[in-house]
Parts: sequence; structure tokens; C-alpha cells
Amino acid sequence: NFEPVRGEIEFCDVSFHYSDAEENILEHFNLKVEAGQTVAIVGDTGAGKSTLVNLVCRFFEPTRGEIRIDGKNYKERSVGWLHGNIGYVLQSPHLFSGTIRENIRYGKLDATDAEIEAAAKLVSLDTVVARLEQGYDTDVGEGGDRLSTGEKQLVSFARAVLADPPIFVLDEATSSIDTRTEALIQNAISRVLKGRTSFLIAHRLSTVRYADVILVVNGGKIIERGTHEEL
Ligand code: ATP
Ligand code: MG
Repeated sequence: NFEPVRGEIEFCDVSFHYSDAEENILEHFNLKVEAGQTVAIVGDTGAGKSTLVNLVCRFFEPTRGEIRIDGKNYKERSVGWLHGNIGYVLQSPHLFSGTIRENIRYGKLDATDAEIEAAAKLVSLDTVVARLEQGYDTDVGEGGDRLSTGEKQLVSFARAVLADPPIFVLDEATSSIDTRTEALIQNAISRVLKGRTSFLIAHRLSTVRYADVILVVNGGKIIERGTHEEL
């Protein structure tokens, strides 16, 4: 449906503040991400990590400056175009009331059961599903409340993978994620992000090792950038 993108993303002199706040979360921020590169973002809580990736997804737009995808300000493209090309796993993922299968299928409405299960397997969600009596037909409850945050992230991860987008945004859950699910997510990340332009908010240095660029954010400012070896 949508003209495909290579996935080069450029922040050009981007400043951003939330409409109800005066303080800039980003100030004159510049960053060029080549197609296929992985940017890892680390930093303390409240540092501005989610804000940065939410701008990429255009849940918010820059207050000043622009974000270009394949050289063109994303505001000149349609929201549908952008969301046809970006997959995201948010920090507090939203699931629909319904089954795990239905929630994954939302990524590609005409997907077969085999495609759904392959996507689940790619992100190690199959391990979680195997523990459930009703498997993929398990009702996730209102907003997915019967699943843990980590499990919800995996379902939302599988949904995004099914859509197979060239750009991927992943905001790893911080709290309330059990070590077992976290290990599954870690495995999935390296497998899925390869070859896609990706932004990864990471809480462990091990996850960021293979990133092409690491941004260290603090107090809303990018304080350092470089590769794992440089930092
Ligand atoms: P965490 O590691 O806890 O997820 P973070 O680095 O993702 O933190 P952000 O969520 O980007 O941090 O928040 C950066 C700053 O912006 C914080 O001071 C936060 O309170 C503020 N903020 C976040 N979302 C909004 C919003 N919708 N409206 C106003 N201020 C916000
Ligand atoms: Mg966050």
C-alpha cells in the first residue's frame, strides 16, 4: 500500500517541549541514522529516552526543526505512510481485549495462523504461549491485563514483526519485568533489529553492544554519543 522506504532518518536541529511544559526535552538536536543502523539510547529515568523515540513515531512532532525520513520532512508524508513503515514496541504496550492470536494479527490483517506463529517464534513469544493452557487462543483480558508487562511487550513485538517494517522502535520495559521474560526479549532484539533502521531504548550494556550509535541521555540532553568501544 505504501511507497517503501530505505529507512534513513535524520534529526535536523530538533527542539522539543511538551505543550504543557516550557523546558525543552531536546534542544537543537542533530543525528543522522543511515538505513539499517541501530541506535541505542541509554540514560536515567526521566532523561527523555521515550520522548526521543515517540518523536520518531510521530506521536509528537518537533517543536522546532524537522525529522527527515529518506531526506524528506515526515510532516510532508501521511501518518498512514509512516505507520506503514514503522514498527514499535512501547514501554507500556497496549493490547486489545481478545486473544493473543488476534493481537498479533493486527500487524497484518490477512496473516495466516502459520505466519502469526512464525512471528511469535521469532520473538520467543512461543515459549510464553507454550505455558498457557489455551495457547494462542488465550484471552489477554482488558487491555492485556492478564499478561505481565514483559509478556505484553512480546505480543506487541510479534505484532510489529509480522508487519515486517523497515524501521523499528523498541522501548524496553524497565520495571515489573521478570528475568525470564527479559531474557526472551534480549534474544529477540538482536534477531529482529538486524537490517532495519532501529531505535532501541536499552537498560543493559549487553544489549547495546552491537548498536552502531549509542546515545547517552541525561536531564533531557544528549550528553554523549559514540560506539560501545568509544564510551
Ligand atoms: P524512563 O526511563 O522512566 O522511561 P525516559 O527517559 O523515557 O524515562 P521520558 O518519558 O522521555 O523519560 O520523559 C522525559 C521528561 O518529559 C520527564 O521529565 C517527563 O516527566 C516528561 N514527560 C514525559 N511525557 C510527558 C508528557 N506527555 N507531557 C509532559 N511531560 C512529559
Ligand atoms: Mg521511557
